[in-house]
Amino acid sequence: HNNIVLQAPAVASQRSTREWQQADAEHFLHPFTDFAGLAKKGSRIITKADNIYLWDSDGHKILDAMSGLWCVNVGYGQASLVDAATRQMKELPFYNAFFQTSTPPAIELAELLSKVTPPQFKHVFFTGSGSEGNDTVVRMVRRYWDILGQPERQVIISRHNGYHGSTMAGASLGGMSGMHAQGGLPIPNITHIDQPYWWENGAGMSRDEFGKVAASWLEERILSIGPEKVAAFIGEPVQGAGGVIVPPATYWPEIQRICDKYGILLVSDEVICGFGRTGQWFGCETMGTKPDLMTFAKGVTSGYIPLGGVMVGERMAKVLIEQGGEFNHGFTYSGHPVACAVALANIRLIQQQKLVEHVHDDVGPYLAQQFASLNDHPLVGETQTCGLMGAVLLVKDKAKHQAFPSDLEVGMVCRGHCFGNGLIMRAVGDRMIIAPPLVITRAQIDEMMVLIRRCLDLTL
Ligand code: PLP
Repeated sequence: HNNIVLQAPAVASQRSTREWQQADAEHFLHPFTDFAGLAKKGSRIITKADNIYLWDSDGHKILDAMSGLWCVNVGYGQASLVDAATRQMKELPFYNAFFQTSTPPAIELAELLSKVTPPQFKHVFFTGSGSEGNDTVVRMVRRYWDILGQPERQVIISRHNGYHGSTMAGASLGGMSGMHAQGGLPIPNITHIDQPYWWENGAGMSRDEFGKVAASWLEERILSIGPEKVAAFIGEPVQGAGGVIVPPATYWPEIQRICDKYGILLVSDEVICGFGRTGQWFGCETMGTKPDLMTFAKGVTSGYIPLGGVMVGERMAKVLIEQGGEFNHGFTYSGHPVACAVALANIRLIQQQKLVEHVHDDVGPYLAQQFASLNDHPLVGETQTCGLMGAVLLVKDKAKHQAFPSDLEVGMVCRGHCFGNGLIMRAVGDRMIIAPPLVITRAQIDEMMVLIRRCLDLTL
């Protein structure tokens, strides 16, 4: 009976691209998608992948410079992750951690996470996704202040154009105006300050000066609300979905100082930045902060299977454990054994292949150099990288610091050229962004840069 699953074909059935697109349009409501618009155009059907490449249903090879959705850190086709999933599925495909039970993969993963994360983290709360992780953050920080007898500390401060997920709390923490416009968001007691985006908001200042000014907006907001009402500040070390906005080096240390000054919890959303993306294990290490909580997902399993969670620093863990009693929160898949087994294999692979060092010492600096060389292009207003995240801003007139009118949708035009030329790059407004798998080599970066330059030329 064991073989029934193994003998099933990997792909459900073989159909033509048109047949796939038709069934897709008839039945599948895609995330963040204009349903009718996509039905007219037809989806691109991705059928297989290896290393940093994808293939579509017409056999075209595509360089995936986005690691799927910022998640396939170890690249596609890693047998050890597949083996871990297969072995765990046969042995124990599911058991929960609700009623005083636990499972070996969840325990071992919790232990390993406490080793690869910064030293203040010894405990983890598992979720199924990054959004659920950030929902957990909201409940946990409020619960923490409740236990300490300060229930009036309810407000969580985050940033415009930050992204923290799509659940009610995740999307409320996020500062995406398009999301807030639908479904009655944000939920109460969440407030947003402006982002540290120098090109847009830093006129007349050096980047370092601007970093301190942008951080001072947090202090202003804390004082206008009243520090005794503020529970936490949350941010991505580098805003990902907002357009790979790398803050000035002065920003995060100043944010840390302000949080410390008012005793406010600092939460680092590491869903994108975690597991090597910035050239350290976690983005907070690159930015020089010591957060109380860290949300993670994506790179923890390299996207091979869904898993997320929250690392809980000792300051909070002590209170929650020793004084909290029951925490009435959790998910069916908190600590899913198969997901945890895949995460273990994934983290061990990152360790064995020294992928964090590979980003920090080799391909990260190389990417920075290559991206900087794009500044000679007439369309390019600025380039930014951090580890293996990068952005190219397309502008109308770089000498005059002038953006394109947004209705031209220049980013979307460029993205279309990328798609047609075998490259997946994402457009956030006019910021063209990448986050390739950490296994990428210098030769593959060269290959990617040829495609990027070609697409910029076609957009001109
Ligand atoms: N936080 C950040 C920084 C993210 O980039 C994302 C997803 O892109 C999330 C949270 C939400 O994670 P998920 O899509 O797994 O719910």
